[in-house]
Amino acid sequence: MTRRTRIPFASSRLLRWLLLGLVLATIAGLAALPRVERYFLSETATREEATLRLATAALRGALSRTEVLPGLLAERPILARILEDPDNEGLVPFANEQLRQTALTLDVADIWVMDTAGMTIAASNYRRERSFVGRRFNYRPYFNNALNDGRGRFHALGTTSGQRGYYFAAPVLDGTEIVGVLAVKILLDGFEATWRESENSVIVTDPSNVIFLSDRRDWHFASLGPIPERALRAITRTRQYPLDRLTLLETEREALAPGHDILTVRSNGRGEDFVTNTGLIASAGWRVMVLTPTRPAIVQARQTVALAVLGLLFAGLIAVVFLQRRARLVERLDQQRRHREQLERRVADRTADLNAANAQLVQEVEERKVTEDRLRRTQSELVQAGKLAALGQMSAALSHEFNQPLAAVKAYADNAATFLDRDRPDEARKNIGLISQMADRMAAISKHLRNFARRPQDRIGPVPLLSVLDDVLELMAPKLNAVKAELRFERPGEEILVMGGRVRLQQVLVNLLSNALDAMERRETPLVEVSIRAEGGRRMVDVRDHGPGLEKEALAQLFDPFFSTKSPGKGLGLGLSISYNIVRDFGGTLAARNHPEGGAIFTVDLAAADPESAEAVAAQ
Ligand code: ADP
Repeated sequence: MTRRTRIPFASSRLLRWLLLGLVLATIAGLAALPRVERYFLSETATREEATLRLATAALRGALSRTEVLPGLLAERPILARILEDPDNEGLVPFANEQLRQTALTLDVADIWVMDTAGMTIAASNYRRERSFVGRRFNYRPYFNNALNDGRGRFHALGTTSGQRGYYFAAPVLDGTEIVGVLAVKILLDGFEATWRESENSVIVTDPSNVIFLSDRRDWHFASLGPIPERALRAITRTRQYPLDRLTLLETEREALAPGHDILTVRSNGRGEDFVTNTGLIASAGWRVMVLTPTRPAIVQARQTVALAVLGLLFAGLIAVVFLQRRARLVERLDQQRRHREQLERRVADRTADLNAANAQLVQEVEERKVTEDRLRRTQSELVQAGKLAALGQMSAALSHEFNQPLAAVKAYADNAATFLDRDRPDEARKNIGLISQMADRMAAISKHLRNFARRPQDRIGPVPLLSVLDDVLELMAPKLNAVKAELRFERPGEEILVMGGRVRLQQVLVNLLSNALDAMERRETPLVEVSIRAEGGRRMVDVRDHGPGLEKEALAQLFDPFFSTKSPGKGLGLGLSISYNIVRDFGGTLAARNHPEGGAIFTVDLAAADPESAEAVAAQ
């Protein structure tokens, strides 16, 4: 539940963080953009320094190579001769052709020879329609300089050819006399063609700031600044540039780095930005400027900044996700800690309950122990009291049993003495006989008591029950016959082995049968039923009579010693008590109950003996 509600919350928070990050990163990017742009522009400027060096070197090379040519060529003797004789129809065409050949060989545009008035006498371009021959160039500085200073150089738009060129001139001497001037012109368009191939623009400006060379045709003869009045007058005088083509190029300059500017050129209503690399060609008084468009550097700067912003954003995103995860982890750990504490508290509570219960139990156990001790003490006291009571009971019974015959013995003895005194020996003998009978009775009691007191030392082992019963019935036969009693015995076919002692078991069974007969004393047809049952590992002998049964009082004390309902001369009350102990010694039980249809049933319950011990039994 909590998880499901937390995710959208977390993602909305993440979104907010992201937006904030985006805004911040964008602001930072925008703030850094100008610096980055300047950096990339400076880089561009530095990179293009090589281009500048190449351009300047090429120009310088071309100029210096040509520079020496006029001096060398002017030494040709034919030149002095044609200057001496300009109308020589033999020499002039020859000189013309020679100059043409030389121009071709030296790869220069034109070579021509002028007299001291500036009139062209011979020229390499003599064949061309607009040939220099017959044209006067005394207005050009190279002519005057060569004439006056021995050397001339100039750059200008050719008034005849209409081509921009660089002029070198040297005087032609006849001995020591200057007889004319030789001029060589080279064209510079080839450079422009080369420059046009690169994305940079190159401009070459003269000392008057006029662009003389450039790969951009529209910039030709445009000036980078206002041309001073004096310079303008010189241009007019020397016809260096056509005045109608001189324009002012609208530019703005911004310093970028030492030696580098950002130049904005506005033409046709749009502005172009360039990074400049400026060099000088001192010999010509030229300033060479390599203009590199700023656009690629600006684009690169913007891309870099955009990348940086994205990178920042990405890093921020990662940081936010990381922080959020961390926060969630901390929260989870916190929750776990709370759960654990709660659990520990609960466990502590339960433990406290348990401890309390335990303490209570311990206390109860203690109390029980005390109670048990008390009980045991009481019990032993009771046992002690019981023993004493039994002893008292026994003493009373014994004194009763022995007193009666003893009193009779005394009476009979007194009588016998009296009869002897009166000399009546027969009566005296009769009384002595009675005394003897009393002595027998007392002996019988004493024998029973001995039996009772004797601890069973007889061996206990497998006893053949049927065989024992057979002996008992045989023993009892005279008594049964005497009272005309019927005995029913369902005798099983096979011998049954039980644990016990043969003689003592006989004693128990004789006692039970005797009691049964005693109980049916008043019956005319006494009936005793003996049966044997098996229950698991137990074997039971039931002895049932049809007498009055057992009274409540008898049932309670039947097995107590000296309990008897019989007249003093007949029963001692020891038979069942002794039998009970005998059967218990055998590991069995003796029990009594009343039959629902009348009469009492006594059951001897004994353990069945292992049949394999039959051999041992046979030996008995
Ligand atoms: P005694 O036979 O000497 O009295 P016993 O211990 O054998 O001593 O018997 C105790 C008493 O149990 C008897 O006096 C009698 O009251 C009662 N009793 C024993 N056997 C039977 C029986 N089969 N039917 C009724 N009462 C019996």
